[in-house]
Amino acid sequence: MIYMDNAATTRLSETAFEAMRPYMMDQFANPAGTYSFAATAAAAVEKARKQVADVIGAKSGDIYFTSGGTESDNWALKGVMTANAAKGKHLITSAIEHHAILHSASALEKQGYEVTVVPVTPDGVVDLEALEKAIRPDTVLISVMAANNEVGTIEPLERIGEIAHAHGVLFHTDAVQAFAHIPLDVERMHIDLLSASGHKFHGPKGVGLLYVRKGVKIAPFMDGGAQEKKRRGGTTNVPGIVGMGAAAEDAMAHMQEIAAKEIVVRDHLIERIEKEIPFARLNGHRTQRLPGNVNFCFRFVEGEGMLMLLDAQGICASSGSACTSGSLDPSHVLLALGLPHEIAHGSLRLSISEETTLADADFVVDTLKGIIERLRSMSPLYEDFVKNGQDAIA
Ligand code: PLP
Repeated sequence: MIYMDNAATTRLSETAFEAMRPYMMDQFANPAGTYSFAATAAAAVEKARKQVADVIGAKSGDIYFTSGGTESDNWALKGVMTANAAKGKHLITSAIEHHAILHSASALEKQGYEVTVVPVTPDGVVDLEALEKAIRPDTVLISVMAANNEVGTIEPLERIGEIAHAHGVLFHTDAVQAFAHIPLDVERMHIDLLSASGHKFHGPKGVGLLYVRKGVKIAPFMDGGAQEKKRRGGTTNVPGIVGMGAAAEDAMAHMQEIAAKEIVVRDHLIERIEKEIPFARLNGHRTQRLPGNVNFCFRFVEGEGMLMLLDAQGICASSGSACTSGSLDPSHVLLALGLPHEIAHGSLRLSISEETTLADADFVVDTLKGIIERLRSMSPLYEDFVKNGQDAIA
């Protein structure tokens, strides 16, 4: 099997697994306990809080553990908007956010909040002019992702943070794809809230975090016990948190070398696809791009068919995001980049990790070439195009 779907999830690292093991077995205490057995688990949770805080230059006290990226995004938007409703009810976000953000924004709209969705450039970079123009006196929060999960474009966080703070607006970033993969700094980037998720950087699934800068008003997302300073109730997921902390420390220690390794494989994939497969379009920014992301549209090819044939050759990849594959709607991200429906349908995301080799990349391109030729040979649109030229189908 060749696994090229690391943006959907990553393999748990040996380091993370070994760190978790004791907290699933002998050290099973609830850290809220008052006995010393519980203190060991509580200390492990605090160690992990520091490990993840260090990734973004934050103070450990500003980290809150959650069940993952979706919860962190929901909490950031709903918690901040409801707690600050006296200031205003306006929220700004971008057209290429994950559904955890877009659907939270829609839910808020139904409750009387107003949302402005800012467009992006054809490369997937948020339109900063439109963003600044969208700010109103009643704007409470700007939420723009650190890096896009489908096309890999890295957003200009520092500029967005400057714009937000110049207008007295809070800044949240969904850093689920960026955390522990590219440098992030909540001070330099003026970030007030940041979401991350353990399973995107070789930690376990079902655990994440929300960074909330001290002093930011946010309502609890769930009603419950006094855990996480009364802001996020629920028995602490000790093994998950410990595993996420260990994975974060590991990823941080090797961030540069991992990124350099991935970029070699990523660029090899891009170069070969562009050279050897006709009518392929690279989606996302060519340079401001996650080290592990490759995303192409292939004209006259339907994404789902391509994925099935890749799967038959042992290749795991995705079309659009994992959450939307299974639906035949074209990706909202590709549509926001300005791609027409019929082209947005034929997209392929290959997301690599430090474990992906050049040989893997070559096998995938060789296989993909054959699959695309085969699918095009069955496409009446492609046949027309070959016979009559571009204009015939325009
Ligand atoms: N935000 C982004 C950008 C993502 O890519 C994902 C997952 O794919 C999420 C949020 C949701 O994270 P989780 O799977 O931890 O709920």
